[in-house]
Amino acid sequence: MKRYDIIIVGAGPAGLGFARALAGSGLSVALVEQQDRGKLADPAFDGREIALTHTSRLLMERLDLWQRIPAGEISPLRDARVMNGPSPFALTFADSSGGDELGWLVPNQLIRRAAWQAVQGQDGLDIIDNAALAALQVDDDAATATLATGERLSARLLVAADSRFSATRRMLGIGAQLRDFGKTMLVCRMRHELPHHHAAWEWFGYGKTVALLPLHGERAGAVLTLPPRRIEALLAMDEAGFGRAITELFEGRLGEMALDGSRHAYPLVAVYADRFAGRRSALIGDAAVGMHPVTAHGFNFGLRSAARLSKAVVEAAAAGRDIGSPPLLAGYERSHRRATRPLYEATNAIAALYTDDRLPARVLRNGALRAARFVAPFRKAIVAQLTQRDAAWLPRAGQTRGA
Ligand SMILES: Cc1cc2nc3c(=O)[nH]c(=O)nc-3n(C[C@H](O)[C@H](O)[C@H](O)COP(=O)(O)OP(=O)(O)OC[C@H]3O[C@@H](n4cnc5c(N)ncnc54)[C@H](O)[C@@H]3O)c2cc1C
Repeated sequence: MKRYDIIIVGAGPAGLGFARALAGSGLSVALVEQQDRGKLADPAFDGREIALTHTSRLLMERLDLWQRIPAGEISPLRDARVMNGPSPFALTFADSSGGDELGWLVPNQLIRRAAWQAVQGQDGLDIIDNAALAALQVDDDAATATLATGERLSARLLVAADSRFSATRRMLGIGAQLRDFGKTMLVCRMRHELPHHHAAWEWFGYGKTVALLPLHGERAGAVLTLPPRRIEALLAMDEAGFGRAITELFEGRLGEMALDGSRHAYPLVAVYADRFAGRRSALIGDAAVGMHPVTAHGFNFGLRSAARLSKAVVEAAAAGRDIGSPPLLAGYERSHRRATRPLYEATNAIAALYTDDRLPARVLRNGALRAARFVAPFRKAIVAQLTQRDAAWLPRAGQTRGA
């Protein structure tokens, strides 16, 4: 059996980000992933355009991820508009603090590729691919993992980063609240005739929710939330028919629209783990908090969880303390819960209110938009959440290489 300081399960953006944040710490780390390394090195387009906050950009710069994303693939987000049905009222969010952007849009595929590249050749890191976690045993001193290949590893700390449907979380005996919205989200890129002026839209029409994520040129990410049967019908259409259907769903607001690449569908299920830490173990990324995408915060939270936990672990290691002690893990759990729970609840409430087409909900959300439009603190709070610049959770400079 091979012994490590830390085992990370899942080489998604959260697991890779966490591994990168441990660089230079002197800790030995195993990163276990069920996919093949060829797929991790060159991930396929998955339709997700990830909206990143200012804090996430800072964290990605410190982790040497941001520099690896081609500048032409980073699209600025200048303002965001929320609209309700045919109502002329739109709630607009823009950064009035002197900054130009609310945030940036980067394809998930390129975030994954950058994170993979950033950990290549990292001292003390073993990447074990083609190897799902099959069984887990934890006691007060160590976590012991058995991989599907039969290989056994042990560590002082095991970190689960294996998605919102985390099998590791179950193996640890940690439950989670799952909220199934009964809807599917279709995401794809579209070309369109009229300019989007780098404004994102979230538009709650009756029977549909559509969003637009502005990319460079006359291109945008289209995000459609509909009952699963309507999404299946859209996926089955040929390209020309699909273009016409999307132009209609957007009511011609961007002129003619045409498909640009592949279409991807995701069932809408939000997940919040009952605990983020157990004996010799912690959850990060979607394994801890799997957000509904409407407020675009899943990966932003995932990055923060990786940064928070790595800071606590690296500081403990530098001081010769136990990196998997109950107080350390409890501190991580407390801070990440405080940072995520309010927005998780608010996001679910927004998602439920805005996809409910019964009359009271329609009236309520129009009223909510009108009210919010005139309530400056509400708008300010949202903009501050997007534009705050705080990378204090990363290990101190000097403790991570290149940070
Ligand atoms: C349509 C859509 C739009 C989104 N938009 C945004 C946005 O605008 N902004 C934002 O911040 N977030 C957004 N998100 C959320 C974001 O994509 C996720 O939060 C993020 O990808 C989660 O990263 P992760 O590393 O935690 O999990 P994942 O990306 O799910 O990676 C998990 C990894 O674990 C591996 N794995 C699973 N099980 C095992 C096992 N048993 N053993 C070994 N390996 C295993 C998987 O193969 C995978 O590589 C969006 C999500 C969706 C669906």
